[in-house]
Amino acid sequence: MSLQNIRVVLVNTSHAGNIGGAARAMKNMGLSRLVLVDPEDFPSSDAVARASGATDILDAAQVVTTLEDALVGCTLVLGTSARDRRIPWPLLDPRECATASLEQAQQGGEVALVFGREYAGLTNEELQRCQFHVHIPSSPDFSSLNLAAAVQVLTYELRMAWLAAQGKPTKMEKLEATAMLDTQPVTMDELEHYFGHLEQTLIEIGFLDPAKPRHLMPRLRRLYGRSGISKLEMNILRGILTETQKAARGEPHKRRQE
Ligand code: SAH
Repeated sequence: MSLQNIRVVLVNTSHAGNIGGAARAMKNMGLSRLVLVDPEDFPSSDAVARASGATDILDAAQVVTTLEDALVGCTLVLGTSARDRRIPWPLLDPRECATASLEQAQQGGEVALVFGREYAGLTNEELQRCQFHVHIPSSPDFSSLNLAAAVQVLTYELRMAWLAAQGKPTKMEKLEATAMLDTQPVTMDELEHYFGHLEQTLIEIGFLDPAKPRHLMPRLRRLYGRSGISKLEMNILRGILTETQKAARGEPHKRRQE
């Protein structure tokens, strides 16, 4: 799994809580390699609290003293920045960052996503060590995200790109039997059976006069044809018809339990 080749590097973080938040965001999105460059307060109970179960990532986090140490072995380095810098640099949005990172990782390369200090971001010198800069297109009036939130955005895009590359669904698979029934389309023979039941019921309640049908059934067929009924919905409609017939015949009806 190529996400393992992508490391998150946090430079000189002040608040340990943000390290925990970043670890949680990473674990949620299937990443695991965290590198901390000269953190101000680590290890820390604040980090553990904010990691909320992603403590394995904190335990395995590599602590180094310089950015250079954090980037050893990397073939692609991307630096994140909340604002424009003086020297123009190749700039990617988070989605492009995900595609480029994954492509590199799939080729066996090592990728670093570098995040800056809460108060000052990354220095120009640090940003110049990165081949690309990544900017989350936030509101220009208030462009700086919380550090862990920025990690979340980038790792989310990585996960989406990774799922697409693996051909995996981005929606939760429905496993319950009723959910299956609810998405299965009704078959033509079931539908014909239903129309027979519907016609019979409409005659019984006096809505349809077989001597003067006035195109009622073709119009109802057209209506049902537009709606893409599932098996479960068909069961409900047939249940309604059965109860309608009972009511019309003066038979006792059952109360629905739900
Ligand atoms: N005052 C700092 C903000 C730092 S926010 C500055 O102006 O640079 C802390 C870190 O979160 C940043 O260094 C960056 O890594 C990340 N970050 C916050 N907002 C971001 C954005 N809009 N795009 C990309 N990264 C962002």
